[in-house]
Amino acid sequence: MKVRRRLVHRFITFELYANFSADSVKNMANRRFCVGGNWKMNGDQKSIAEICKVLSDAALDANTEVVIGCPAIYLMYARNLLPCNIGVAGQNAYKVAKGAFTGEISPAMLKDIGAEWVILGHSERRAIFKETDELIAEKAEHALAEGLKIIACIGETLEEREAGKTNDVVARQMCAYAKKIRDWTNVVVAYEPVWAIGTGKTATPEQAQEVHAYLRKWLEENVSKEVSASLRIQYGGSVTGANAKELAKKPDIDGFLVGGASLKPEFVDIINARK
Ligand code: PEP
Repeated sequence: MKVRRRLVHRFITFELYANFSADSVKNMANRRFCVGGNWKMNGDQKSIAEICKVLSDAALDANTEVVIGCPAIYLMYARNLLPCNIGVAGQNAYKVAKGAFTGEISPAMLKDIGAEWVILGHSERRAIFKETDELIAEKAEHALAEGLKIIACIGETLEEREAGKTNDVVARQMCAYAKKIRDWTNVVVAYEPVWAIGTGKTATPEQAQEVHAYLRKWLEENVSKEVSASLRIQYGGSVTGANAKELAKKPDIDGFLVGGASLKPEFVDIINARK
């Protein structure tokens, strides 16, 4: 039954993407769609229990991997409320396993309480907490070494986009990760234009696809053809139930990282965008 469902899914994928090259469609079908929710510093026990119930009761596309980035203090609580096919992620983790780093949490601690993922390099960590490309890459290296999967965020500001520097900025951020990451199996990249995060101003599907395609070219030239074909690249920035389907049709968009809408029932429609 599972095999039949996968074959039907692939057939529909090929039909939908008749305009793209055979290789890009084949690679797309091989990358499992992955949708992350980033709850940021929002929620309490009551509201988290409500969101977890919505997600537990919903009919979610089995072809989509779902990960919830939960505030650290509620991770274990959410883990216990969510079905086991939904992963949970920390929203940050430090670059060493333990020690005198007041206020920090480590990948080892995330794993200990059942989180398998961590979101790193989010633009809010970069802008508000002044995290550098280098520190983020070191965190990525350590989290992967500890056996966590990572959502590695990148993205340009409005000023950088308007100055025509989008590709340079995302290349610089990718380069920092690439200096520290040897095995990309457990990495998902989230391309999140900063001007689209929390603003209601989504990138058009064409704008997002253009950067995703550039990132694949960058990966092919600077990492490997295999990683370029297999690495999942999410789009993030004001994704909603209303715009997710159009974005999900683009061949290099392999899922979403979702802030505001991941706290609402419409998150289910985003998860099911490829259904
Ligand atoms: C985010 O926080 O990663 C994000 C994309 O937020 P929003 O969906 O609210 O723009």
